[in-house]
Amino acid sequence: MITIVGAGPVGLVLACLLGKQGRAVTLYEKRVALPAASMAIGITPPSLDILEKIDLKAEFLHRGLLIPRAQVFESGKPCGTVDFRDSENEILSLPQFGTLKLLRQRLSKLKNVHLCEGVEMTPERLRTCKGWIIACDGADSSLRRHCGIPMRRHEYGVSFVMADFEDKEDLGDEARLYFSPRGAVESFPLPGGKRRWIVQRTQNAPPTLETLLQRVQAAAGFDLAGRAHGNLYPFTPQRTLAKSFFHQQIILCGDAAHTMSPIGGQGMNTGFADAFLLSRILPDPSPQALQAYTRERQRAFRIAARRAAQGMWLGTRTGIPASRTRALLLKTALHQPRVRETLARTFAMRNLPQPRTP
Ligand SMILES: Cc1cc2nc3c(=O)[nH]c(=O)nc-3n(C[C@H](O)[C@H](O)[C@H](O)COP(=O)(O)OP(=O)(O)OC[C@H]3O[C@@H](n4cnc5c(N)ncnc54)[C@H](O)[C@@H]3O)c2cc1C
Repeated sequence: MITIVGAGPVGLVLACLLGKQGRAVTLYEKRVALPAASMAIGITPPSLDILEKIDLKAEFLHRGLLIPRAQVFESGKPCGTVDFRDSENEILSLPQFGTLKLLRQRLSKLKNVHLCEGVEMTPERLRTCKGWIIACDGADSSLRRHCGIPMRRHEYGVSFVMADFEDKEDLGDEARLYFSPRGAVESFPLPGGKRRWIVQRTQNAPPTLETLLQRVQAAAGFDLAGRAHGNLYPFTPQRTLAKSFFHQQIILCGDAAHTMSPIGGQGMNTGFADAFLLSRILPDPSPQALQAYTRERQRAFRIAARRAAQGMWLGTRTGIPASRTRALLLKTALHQPRVRETLARTFAMRNLPQPRTP
């Protein structure tokens, strides 16, 4: 018997992978309803390959929207484009609740996976569990704390506010990155005629709708006032990494093990790759296999997190000198096909170490 704690995207993918192998799995989820926040929207090609293993790739492609390119601007002027179609690097856009819905539908067809909803895993309940327990209980993992596994933490010192709006601009399926002396504004297409807008907050700007509207208007020239939109979501990215990914019979997976800046859209995708590797070493992992799991996934995380941090660092430098330097750098870099190709592969997580399975 394998116990999974947390039916977020990572716990659900792991439950589906194990369920498809015929393993008996019990999945505990303390929530009773799906969270409404759209959170992760970018699903990369390696994640789609993992979803194919649980027969979901076609359904995800049907429900989501493929992003063919990202246009980059500095102070309102175009600097260049990253084309994801050049090498089949297209990233799929689907709000996290859509991902959860599809994974839950798949799970409901697996007879050997039992979902206990509205049931919180507590230290008392933990004592009654037999076999391996996989902590997919998110960034604030109570199982990780229960194990006493230390976390390394790093604050990036930048904050953002985002919301998903009705899309009335004629931007099609492309992503837009607007950099300026006042900070970054990013925009991503969503299925169903919506678009996500994320703006960097300066120190004195509150995380309000007014701040978001003003920054979008100033950086991109679009007036979103009066537009239907989802909840405002302020966030301050952090990087965290667990020192070890296991302790006795508890194994960490996904955000319970690591978090990185959402700017770059790689957290959930990194968690899917954790889940895939874990599904190949369960149900009977040796201590060596668990150490290799920790090493391999920490390495992939460090590379992904470093790239996310570098991209965020470049985009969030404020002031006129930084903006001028960035404009020069971006124009020069995006003029070169090899750089564009590398950037596309990096966003698509194609050039990250993928799980090596036994
Ligand atoms: C604004 C934003 C945008 C993002 N965009 C992207 C993106 O585009 N691409 C990307 O890859 N990532 C993105 N991410 C990151 C992504 O959202 C997370 O990496 C992802 O949610 C992690 O999934 P998880 O299943 O590990 O954890 P969670 O999604 O946190 O799920 C944990 C689950 O465990 C349950 N739980 C917790 N404790 C218990 C308990 N004791 N008992 C039972 N159940 C419990 C919770 O209720 C929850 O359902 C973004 C994050 C943010 C904040």
